[in-house]
Amino acid sequence: MSKFIFVTGGVISSLGKGIASASIGKMLEERGLSTTTIKCDPYLNVDPGTMSPFQHGEVYVTDDGAETDLDLGHYERFTNARVGKDSNITTGKVYFSVISKERKGEYLGKTVQIIPHITDEIKNRIKKVAKARDVDVTIVEIGGTIGDIESLPFLEAIRQMKWEIGPSYCINVHVTLLPFIKSAGEHKTKPTQHSVGRLREIGIAPDILLCRTEKHMTKEQREKIALFCSVDREAVIEAIDVKHIYEVPVFLKKEGLDNLILRKLNIKKPDSDLKKWEDYVVKRLRNPSKEVRISVVGKYISLPDAYKSIYEALVHGGIANDARVIINKVDSEDIEKFSVKKYLKDSDGILIPGGFGTRGIEGKIKAVQYAREKGIPFFGICLGMQIASIEFARNVCGYRGANSTEFDKGTKYPIISLLEEQKKIKNMGATMRLGAYPCKLQKKTKSFQAYKKESISERHRHRYEFNDAYRKVFEKKGVIFSGINTKKKLVEILELKNHPWFVACQFHPEFKSKPDKAHPLFQSFVAASLVKRP
Ligand code: GLN
Repeated sequence: MSKFIFVTGGVISSLGKGIASASIGKMLEERGLSTTTIKCDPYLNVDPGTMSPFQHGEVYVTDDGAETDLDLGHYERFTNARVGKDSNITTGKVYFSVISKERKGEYLGKTVQIIPHITDEIKNRIKKVAKARDVDVTIVEIGGTIGDIESLPFLEAIRQMKWEIGPSYCINVHVTLLPFIKSAGEHKTKPTQHSVGRLREIGIAPDILLCRTEKHMTKEQREKIALFCSVDREAVIEAIDVKHIYEVPVFLKKEGLDNLILRKLNIKKPDSDLKKWEDYVVKRLRNPSKEVRISVVGKYISLPDAYKSIYEALVHGGIANDARVIINKVDSEDIEKFSVKKYLKDSDGILIPGGFGTRGIEGKIKAVQYAREKGIPFFGICLGMQIASIEFARNVCGYRGANSTEFDKGTKYPIISLLEEQKKIKNMGATMRLGAYPCKLQKKTKSFQAYKKESISERHRHRYEFNDAYRKVFEKKGVIFSGINTKKKLVEILELKNHPWFVACQFHPEFKSKPDKAHPLFQSFVAASLVKRP
């Protein structure tokens, strides 16, 4: 039976619970344990698929087509854990199934209540994932901050689980903030004491405290926190701010967190180190031998979380090339207002990520034109590929006003349009082309050079597709359709013949990139961007 680590967060949000959970997974994997991770999100949306990136950040897509919280992206990047539809438990999903059961009469005349019905549903979902994955340890991260009304049923569920299964099977890790007050010249432990106090009020006693801090803690401070929060001295773990998120497992290992967890969960495994990770990922992040400047042109640029996996995949591409990737974030609306040159003139490479809606589209088209005409390596992803097609249709094929029907329903040249199956759809939630689809690559293309194989599988999240009616004209004018979904006859990747590196794909390669195993297209895009242009 799987053991459980429940991760909660206190004091403030954005403490990096996701990174902490992913780092725990990484350390345990290194010790030879199999793990999986679950993210519990206390909002009422069934999934984040219908939320704006400004509200929620990126929507992370799994192989099985789930639209999930971006923390699942961290788990997949740090570990080999398999995550899927069932790995993201939201209040929306939980209530949806409880109410559906009630309507079917499955509660046999009982009054349906938060306790026990909602909490049972949460527990069953957590246990089901652990059982299905058949892992040694299941890490369950509870979203939100202690004290929120929304997360109470989740907290009650994990409290019950520990009571039912027993303390050597379940531990609570609480991520908390230890602010350093400059004027006092010291850390303040009170917020942590209060946060732990609130946890205790609802019956949860943390086994381990991960203290986020910008300055090292003293021995006395650790003692004080241990005493006032009633945790073991060695269970007060310092989680110091680091420059790169991939350093976190290394620092936590130095603090002895993995040994502590194993001891508390009564698991015996030989010690290990993170040397491979340190030597390849951390060293190259800290001291790369080269530098490259990549412009990312999007509309959610002001929010770092909106393109999380894209930024991470670029970093991975940098690691693979032993280069620091400097990301120049460009708002496509600024390109519309001013000039394309102003924002893109120093770019070694230009990337256009996914997106929805009309705002900023014309600026992105200008960015593609700039990359195409100047021979700057270009990488288009999902919407970026659609934009590249529109630009090519307008400026190379001479189709004035060419567009996607997403932005101009009546366009004379619908280069990007809806498939028949999408036209019938009325509901917005979970109805896009989602998840992994196979793709066949054409030999002697940039894509094939990158992947070094013919059959690939990549994740999707979009409604619109390249319109097959324009394939021939495009080919005549210099486009290579290097990746095709042969079953559905859909364009997956297009490239330009006479360009140093111009690759645009309909899928989202960023979701499958890892720090120690960069995605082939990101690796190859960064490599092309490192080539000095005349
Ligand atoms: N808006 C486009 C579509 O729905 C692209 C989506 C995306 O970039 N993820 O097809």
